[in-house]
Amino acid sequence: MGLVNYHNHTYLCGHASGNPEEYIIAAIKKGISEFGFSDHAPLPEYLRHGITMSSRETETYINMISKLAQKYADQIEIRIGFEVDFPLCDSFDQKYLKDDRIDFIMGSCHFINLGSYDFVDVAANAWGFDNPHPNSISEFDKHDINDLYNHYYTNIYELVNSRIFDIVGHFDLLKIFGHRPKKDLKPTIQKIAQAMFKHNVAAEINTSGLLKPVNEMYPSEDIIEIFFENNVPITLGSDSHSPQTIGYAFDKAVKLIKKIGYTKISGFKKRKRYDINL
Ligand SMILES: [Zn+2]
Ligand SMILES: [Zn+2]
Repeated sequence: MGLVNYHNHTYLCGHASGNPEEYIIAAIKKGISEFGFSDHAPLPEYLRHGITMSSRETETYINMISKLAQKYADQIEIRIGFEVDFPLCDSFDQKYLKDDRIDFIMGSCHFINLGSYDFVDVAANAWGFDNPHPNSISEFDKHDINDLYNHYYTNIYELVNSRIFDIVGHFDLLKIFGHRPKKDLKPTIQKIAQAMFKHNVAAEINTSGLLKPVNEMYPSEDIIEIFFENNVPITLGSDSHSPQTIGYAFDKAVKLIKKIGYTKISGFKKRKRYDINL
């Protein structure tokens, strides 16, 4: 049995604590065999403070993790990745999508573009809907929740079809503060699941939602069932921003995915996905 954890951050993003070596030591203690760093890829300078590394720090990040990968090579497989906001911003140099040192690219949506609901520029009128500040959470009340979900999943669908990504991060993040859609989104999820299968994009089972107001994993059990029905590969992540939460509730996550029927999870190396028996 192999346990992987493909969603972990570093202090470079400005909202994580501890040093990466402590994360690795915690992962070894938890019996994790493959540990991926997927720190937030640089957003534009005016938006990124407290959210992502700067463009100039991209090489610092890769070199820092590469050194640790060598140091701990006999104990754990370390993978280097990025969690990248979709649509892409120029602040993240697209040369990294073809860089031999990069093992995986996770695509996530943390922003809704208010005003035009236009997908062109993630940073224009960007509302970081997972921001726990009360002024940000209150934005949910100003919109039709179905419109927000429609916008969010349209973006996720385009993310999958862009063929840039290996993994979709925290698939239903929009529920973070407990705001649920008021209509059945099964057809939408099925359409995205079919695209994920077609393009060999894995879904992350992310346990960090259990520590958020919604108090559930991302995605919900009914969505994981749709993924299973559509042969969508899955991987695991704790979305850790500190060494303390590495592998949080993985026992619960593994139990759930096995119950649904999964017998394999995915690992990634040099942008290639492979199956690992659970
Ligand atoms: Zn973060
Ligand atoms: Zn994220």
